[in-house]
Amino acid sequence: MASEGKTTGAGMEKSGRKLMGESGQTLNESRHTQPQAFRDLARSVHELLDAAYPEKLGFLNYRNPYELIISVILSAQTTDRQVNRVTGALFTAYPAPADLARADIQDVERLIHSTGFYRAKAKNIMGAAETIHMQFHDTVPGTMEELLQIPGVGRKSASVILGAVFNKPAIIVDTHFSRVVRRLGLTGSHQPEKIEQEIAALLMPGQQYRFSMTVNNHGRIVCHARKPECVKCLLHRICPKIGVNAAITGSESLSR
Ligand code: SF4
Repeated sequence: MASEGKTTGAGMEKSGRKLMGESGQTLNESRHTQPQAFRDLARSVHELLDAAYPEKLGFLNYRNPYELIISVILSAQTTDRQVNRVTGALFTAYPAPADLARADIQDVERLIHSTGFYRAKAKNIMGAAETIHMQFHDTVPGTMEELLQIPGVGRKSASVILGAVFNKPAIIVDTHFSRVVRRLGLTGSHQPEKIEQEIAALLMPGQQYRFSMTVNNHGRIVCHARKPECVKCLLHRICPKIGVNAAITGSESLSR
């Protein structure tokens, strides 16, 4: 387990360089032979991003766990801003899980239409409301296993709920997060569950949710899919920039 002390600038560069191929090993080989170098790099990334970004980094508007879980389901394939535009009217009309569970589906479809995939989403949020009402007695559950029983909720959405509502360790793997951690060399995987496990193993439980939020934010505003702004990136000195040239020339397969 990594110590809790702050990493020095020289230490950060050293841990980054170790993963840049100084040893001539592949990333997967290095993970087994130099586990501490991976933990050091993850901790350095966490410290730098934690200091750089505001404490509140969630962009969905919600007043309680029910509103958050419905908003998270609606956020698939659209922006948080777009979700926020519809949820005010949605939660005014259907303020509790039982209300939404019994709603007229056509009215729900009308209210959420602009978020896209509105038919599937209406079915999912009504199914989610029904499950929360009937199975969990109007309380959003606090374990991964229970959350995965709710229609429309996958591991990513469940992790958002666990971190944001229950303050539990949670690695939230979306397209931005997975791109950034691969470029940092913290994982070589494209499989969300494997990425989740590998990154969780590098961090203290209390760091995981904040790390997820700051890395996601960094991917949105600096480490863009096609044109990462490495020159002005605060991780520039420690990042091995794996696959970045391929991304710029368009030959990298960009996973979604
Ligand atoms: S912008 Fe460049 S230096 Fe920064 S994290 Fe992304 S790949 Fe690394």
